Parts: sequence; C-alpha cells; structure tokens
Amino acid sequence: MKYKIKEVLSNGYVMGEALKLKIKNDEPEFVSEEFELIKLNHSIQRTSHELNDIKRNNPDLADFLETERLIAVDPILKKGVVAKIEEGYSAEEALEFVMNKYIKNLANSKSDYLRERTNDINDVRDRLLSNMIQRTKFSDDDKYILVIDNLYPSLLIQRRNSIVGVIAKNGGYTSHSAILCRSFEIPYVIADIECESDDTIIIDTRFNEIDVNPSQADELEFDGENSKRIINSKIAILHNSEYEFMANVSNSFEVLKAAEYNYDSIGLYRTEMLFMNSDRPCTFLEQYSIYSEAVKMMNGKPITFRTFDIGDDKIIEYLKADKKGINNYITNPEIFEAQVSAIMKANTYGNSRIMFPMIYSNSEFEYLRDWVIKIARRNDYQVPLIGMMLETKEALEHINDFVKTDFISIGTNDLSMELYGISRLEFSNFNNYIDDLVLSLKPVVEFAKKTDKSLSVCGEVASIKEVALKFYEIGIRKLSITPTLINVLNMSYDEFVNK
Ligand code: PEP
Ligand code: MG
Repeated sequence: MKYKIKEVLSNGYVMGEALKLKIKNDEPEFVSEEFELIKLNHSIQRTSHELNDIKRNNPDLADFLETERLIAVDPILKKGVVAKIEEGYSAEEALEFVMNKYIKNLANSKSDYLRERTNDINDVRDRLLSNMIQRTKFSDDDKYILVIDNLYPSLLIQRRNSIVGVIAKNGGYTSHSAILCRSFEIPYVIADIECESDDTIIIDTRFNEIDVNPSQADELEFDGENSKRIINSKIAILHNSEYEFMANVSNSFEVLKAAEYNYDSIGLYRTEMLFMNSDRPCTFLEQYSIYSEAVKMMNGKPITFRTFDIGDDKIIEYLKADKKGINNYITNPEIFEAQVSAIMKANTYGNSRIMFPMIYSNSEFEYLRDWVIKIARRNDYQVPLIGMMLETKEALEHINDFVKTDFISIGTNDLSMELYGISRLEFSNFNNYIDDLVLSLKPVVEFAKKTDKSLSVCGEVASIKEVALKFYEIGIRKLSITPTLINVLNMSYDEFVNK
C-alpha cells in the first residue's frame, strides 16, 4: 500500500522493518500507594541514568540531554505526582496528569522559547512512562523505521544506530529533531500511514512516497547499493559550483564535519551553544581553546564566529536575558569582552570573522564594532572582518545605513518570524511567504553589490533546493547550511534548473 509523504524533514531512500513505538500502557491500574511510589522512583532513577548514558556518548548534545534529565528529577514535579498518587491514582495516571498540565501551560505561552520546551517535556514524560511500563523491542543490532506521533531528540540520539528512518505525524523543519536527522543522515518524514510493527516499509523522498508491505517486485527493485541514504557522507565539494558553500556549526564535532566535507568556510558558528552546555559563562581560556581548535581544523579557511545570541528562544539561566540583541552585551560586558578576545586571539590565520546577531540599527552595529576594535587595540590583536546578521525588520528597512559592516549574513529563521510571524515549528508553510521574503531582500543584494560586501544566507531555507535557486536568481551565491545537506545543493545552476 502506497502513501504520500506530507512533508519531508530529512531526505532519504531506505527500506526497513516498522517499529510502532507504543509508549503508554492502555489501562494502568492503581495497585497500592506504596507500589505506585516504588514505580515512580524506579522510573525517575532509570530515566536519569539513561539520559546520563546517552549524554556521555553524545557530548555535543549534552546541553539538551541535561535539560531533559533535570526535568525528570525535578523535585517539584515529583511532589505533584506523589500528591496525585496519594489521591488514589496509578503512577502512570498521576505522572500524565501533572506533566500534561505543564505541557498545556507551556503550549499556551506567548514565548517561543517556552512553547518549544513542550517538546522536551513531552519527551521526558514519554521516557518516564516507558520506564514505568514496558521496555520496547529495540536492540542495538536491529534496524528500524520508527513510526511515531512525535519524534523527540533524546530518543533519536539514544537509538541513532538502530533508527534508519522516521515517519511521524507531527514535526517542523527547524525543530531540533529535524536538524539532528539531517545531521545524522536519517530520512524523516511527516505522513499518516496504516501499518503494524514488523511490516516492511520503504521511504523514498525522491518520489514523496512511503510503501508499506511493498510487492515482491518493488522489494526486489529496491537497490541494495542505494539503500543507504540519498545523502552520502564524505562528499568533496565541487569547486566549479556556482555557489559558495559555507557551513553552520555549533560545536567542534560539526567543525570537523565541515572540514571533512571540504567546505569553503564556516559561515555561522553559533557560539551561544557552548554557553548552554555549562552552568556558568565559558571563560576566555575555555573559549580560546575551542576556537583555536576550530581554526586549526579548518586549516586556514575562514570561520565566522557569531557573538553569543541569547534571549527569546535561547535562554541561559545565569545570563538573564529575555530578549535577543545588543542589550545582552551591555548588561554582560565582561562576557562579551572575553568572547571577542578569545576569537581574536585564536585567529592564527588572520581570517576569522566576528558577526553580531539581531542588529536593529546601524548605531547598534557601530557601537559594537567600535567596542571590538577597542578590545583589539588594547590587547594588540589584529582587527578581524566585522559583520552583521540581517534578521530584523528594522535592519532590512534601513539596510543602506550599514556602510561599515564588512559582510552581511541573512538569518531567515528570525527574519521570517519578524516579517510574517512564522514560528520555527511551522516551517512547512515556507511556500506561502518565501517569494515575498526573497523579493524583500533585493535592496540588500543591491546594497551589498554597490558597496562590495560579501552577502550570504544562513537560515535553514538556504539548504532547500528551490529556495537556493531563488536566492541565486536575485544574486545571492553564498549559502551557509547544515554540513550534511551539501549533496542537495552541490550542482551547477543548469543542473539545478533542469533537475
Ligand atoms: C537565523 O535566524 O536564520 C539564524 C541562522 O540564526 P538562529 O537560527 O541561530 O537564530
Ligand atoms: Mg537568528
């Protein structure tokens, strides 16, 4: 039986056995208060151990996993669940009741950051429940196509060697699970299908199709050689391509990938991710060590370090920021200075760059630029190229003011939110606004050309073929993308158009 894929979040062509992940027990029964409390404690402990284990094997994702672990062991959460058990509910029912209430409150929140946290809490709830009830049938030797309602990052990370594909009912292109699937090269699609565990499934995003229990002929046609993903690892980038490809990274592991794939440069290093993996600001020395390692790995190719971009959707407890933007540097001057100094000191080849996020006006940009130059002079560092992200409506409207920026990188994720109210979890609507967005960028292209400034796009849409083509047509040839997505774009303009 064939089904249409509604949305492709990560491309691929794969065949495997279905695993319908059933997390909940249908009718959990209250046995005794004592028994229910034992079940709850056991599940919290087991969940905490599991998450610690996964964290050890995935240091690059430690911050996400630690957040989930802290939710699982949260004493206030436990207190609420215990109170419900004391009212005569089973541990499963009590846990669902309390966590669903949290989830509902977060889902109704006005803050994007808090709304996105519903995914984390859903994930923790399902993990706690599954540790109370059944163990699923996963074993590391098995390879499955996971059929699930919602895919959460920790499940994916934990089962990254068993999962060869994912079919989910819900999900968004810029969600963390989607970014991970693209990074791990696992096909991930949104579709409504009927199947049972152990059914054979073929996902083929080239034809937007899922085949459940394919005919023998279709199974035979499935090419073993191509059964790996469409996206290959270890691709050498063609240098005759008419695009310049840059990589988006947030840790040393991804820098290594960018280097292996032979990227022209790193167009966006999301440095705030390093801060999220710690309970205090990273020191100058810690940052210097990470940045100089990156510089070495890229062997002289340019790296654009974005100064920490926190607030709104990225909250760091110890940095107290509720809004993205320049204020975060003004209220944390020592952290800004330590970061900028570390970047400049690590700039061994002289071609690292500094980029400011969420700039609203030229006066903000010049204020930060002057500040960086002062730090450089004070410490005898070479002043690097200093550029800006274009991701606010105000900056777009006044683009001609930014004469001193050395380069511009367009952050379409934030800009889409600012211009059209698009949330990161609603990516699938990009067709509704992308033409208008591209059109609105024409003055930026003209300004960059006139003033001879390098111009790139680093939002998630840059790695979508059709959108990349639209950027090409208005004169944007530099695309900064998730390293593993290069195969989608690595072709000449003619190949692109004729494909
Ligand atoms: C963007 O806003 O498009 C961007 C690349 O930055 P981030 O997703 O980190 O906000
Ligand atoms: Mg942004």
